[in-house]
Amino acid sequence: MLLDHANKAGKKILMSGGGRCNFTNLFTEPANFLSGNAHFCKSALARYTQWDFIEMVCRHGVPYHEKKLGQLFCDNKASDILDMLLDECRQAGADLRLNTSVQTIERTESGFHLQTSLGDVGCASLVIATGGLSIPTLGASGFGYQVAKQFGHDLLPTRAGLVPFTITDQLKELCTELSGTSVDCLVSCNDQSFRENILFTHRGLSGPAILQISSFWESGDTVEINLMPDHDVPTWLQQQQAERPNSELKTLLGEIFTKKMANLLADNWFVSKPMKQYTHAEAAAIAAALEDWPIVASGTEGYRTAEVTLGGVDTDGLSSTTMESRLHKGLYFIGEVVDVTGWLGGYNFQWAWASAHARPKPTITNLMV
Ligand SMILES: Cc1cc2nc3c(=O)[nH]c(=O)nc-3n(C[C@H](O)[C@H](O)[C@H](O)COP(=O)(O)OP(=O)(O)OC[C@H]3O[C@@H](n4cnc5c(N)ncnc54)[C@H](O)[C@@H]3O)c2cc1C
Repeated sequence: MLLDHANKAGKKILMSGGGRCNFTNLFTEPANFLSGNAHFCKSALARYTQWDFIEMVCRHGVPYHEKKLGQLFCDNKASDILDMLLDECRQAGADLRLNTSVQTIERTESGFHLQTSLGDVGCASLVIATGGLSIPTLGASGFGYQVAKQFGHDLLPTRAGLVPFTITDQLKELCTELSGTSVDCLVSCNDQSFRENILFTHRGLSGPAILQISSFWESGDTVEINLMPDHDVPTWLQQQQAERPNSELKTLLGEIFTKKMANLLADNWFVSKPMKQYTHAEAAAIAAALEDWPIVASGTEGYRTAEVTLGGVDTDGLSSTTMESRLHKGLYFIGEVVDVTGWLGGYNFQWAWASAHARPKPTITNLMV
């Protein structure tokens, strides 16, 4: 029996990947996950791999494609994945109950007793698959953490991950003016780097590279952005000074960025003039600004828009092969509620699938909440 308080199953699946669900990643590896224990995810990921999920997708005739960086998306719509999973549920005889809230859970001699809006439910095994705190309007709640606490499990502090940065300092104006502009960059923070697009927004910075680095960012950290990752900027500037001495910096930057961005950078950060007029020190300062642009975000957009929740149920209290609680036989935690968080790119769904699969052979009825 699957209990869900939402009025519709799999709302995040429907919303995901811009409506096309980035359902896994060809290159999924344990290194693509953040957790207090980097080893915890290995067993589940190895025992139910991206290839296992792809096999099911193919068996159901769901058309898909690789967009980039191993990210697999539906050709048509995310509901293909949801329909496939609901079909699997039907075949397995699962009893899906929507609009059902769980009021209390108690341990009994034979398992668990739940008071729900459907009435009382007893079960031998209880699987908590209630996700994290991201996007409360999609049904997210802290319920899984409460259950973990109730049964004596430790929780690691939770925070929003894969989330846009908000900017309130003098950079805000630039972000607003460039809102909608996206640039291929190398973004770094806390010894982690991602090469992808950043997107300027009215509130600050977003785009895949920013979402990725946000999971490694803590309040107060500086994020470094290399706006010209394909160039060795000091050498490029020297070349321009030698080969195009009469061209203005903003003209040259306009060949790399949009004209608007080039003009804004040149006007805000440098004095734009013909290349031959820059001193060695001025050229070095320009190179540093373009290669090492330091951003101090005032915060993130938080759970309202975050794709995932970092932290959660401490993996020390769980078996990595079955996801069963080490404290209570028959109690399981799977998916995002556990302190395992994937990078952007299909890794979070792969963790949800793999951790859901990591259970002993079902000799008893499992109750998924
Ligand atoms: C906008 C968005 C886009 C995303 N895109 C991608 C993507 O393309 N690729 C990817 O890999 N990941 C993506 N993710 C992340 C991914 O959706 C999650 O990591 C994944 O859904 C987690 O699965 P889960 O089953 O653990 O939790 P969820 O999918 O969050 O499911 C939890 C379920 O529990 C129910 N529930 C919660 N509280 C209660 C309660 N108290 N009582 C009863 N039921 C309850 C909820 O209604 C929900 O149905 C995206 C996330 C968001 C928000």
